[in-house]
Amino acid sequence: MVEHMMASRMAGMKASEIRELLKLLDQPGIISFAGGIPDPALFPAADFAEATAEALSDANCAQALQYSVSEGYLPLRRWIARHMAGLGIACAPDQVMITSGSQQALDYLGKMFLSPGDTALVGWPTYLGALAAFNAYEPHYEQLNLNGNRAAEDYRAAAQAAGGQVKFAYLSADFANPTGETVDRAGRERLLKLADALDCPILEDAAYQALRYDGVPVPPILALELAQKGDLDACRTIYCGSFSKTLSPGLRLGWVVAARPVISKLVLLKQASDLHTATLNQMVVCAVAERAFYSHVARLRDIYGRRRDRMLAALAEHMPEGVTWTRPEGGMFIWVTLPPHLDGATLLAQAIDTARLAFVPGQAFFADGSGGNTLRLAFSCADEAATDEGIRRLGVLLHTQI
Ligand code: PMP
Repeated sequence: MVEHMMASRMAGMKASEIRELLKLLDQPGIISFAGGIPDPALFPAADFAEATAEALSDANCAQALQYSVSEGYLPLRRWIARHMAGLGIACAPDQVMITSGSQQALDYLGKMFLSPGDTALVGWPTYLGALAAFNAYEPHYEQLNLNGNRAAEDYRAAAQAAGGQVKFAYLSADFANPTGETVDRAGRERLLKLADALDCPILEDAAYQALRYDGVPVPPILALELAQKGDLDACRTIYCGSFSKTLSPGLRLGWVVAARPVISKLVLLKQASDLHTATLNQMVVCAVAERAFYSHVARLRDIYGRRRDRMLAALAEHMPEGVTWTRPEGGMFIWVTLPPHLDGATLLAQAIDTARLAFVPGQAFFADGSGGNTLRLAFSCADEAATDEGIRRLGVLLHTQI
């Protein structure tokens, strides 16, 4: 066998047993709150069909089917620059790079900043896919504390003890995966101060940013920093956006907005890795974004917002004493905390077996392996009947254990 010849970075890359288990769940009768994915019934398929026909027309197909620049399709970067201006981030198209999903940006940013033993600051819990992307670069993780209770000096000492430096803080500030929680403006400002003190970048993962159902929008961290510094090229925040949760994840379209020196290095990483994101996909997403992005997102917010309300109401009705959960203002997830003696992975095995119900146990989202008594529930694909019945089944199961 060849495994013994593999690089040390492969040791940190393991298939998650739970992901393997959840793959088997596409069976009738199972109610699944596991997949954090958009409802396929809501894809703007007709808009995509029309835009694809146009991109493949005689006038456009030579461009659509050809190699293109690593930075990304210019009209799409212009659309993104206008969209970002609406979020308080004035940027030029050369401060935008298109990626193959925002997941690719996380990989590139890990590659750009992390040498083995360097420290990445992440939430406990945080997005599992970010940990998976960063793990390839053999980092040490420290818990990112947004309450301001941990001094920069303390992070620096921990990073030094691990054999490197603090290289970035990564977070999803709006409706995070997996907790659904949003960092308030004061928390964002504290993070900017911490990053200034550590002189490190902030990776702002905005995958769910557009999906707000109520409450008041909080400016992106990059917008707050830009307001302080006045020049995007002087900003340390690197903003990662995505069309996956709004238009389509299958087309793999994301973007990065950052200072030009960061964008130009990202372009080199992109050239070395996949040359550019699929030209046809960029043209099609650009056309659909120009015509229908805001109206489509308004529809998603209405429907997903009602699904969130329904799941919160069902939890209030069926959860036993001792179980708590988040009340997200957007996104796709509710995060459930069970009494400490319960284990999410054991509960999942029982839920599949006896209740025909699936969710994601929370432990995998913790870089230190804690959080055994947590669960992630996704409400994005669950209609009212499935939500009521699934949460009722979860309640029945939990009542037998508490
Ligand atoms: N960030 C977060 C927080 C996510 O939940 C996801 C997808 N699950 C991604 C990034 C990656 O999304 P994509 O590559 O499809 O843009």
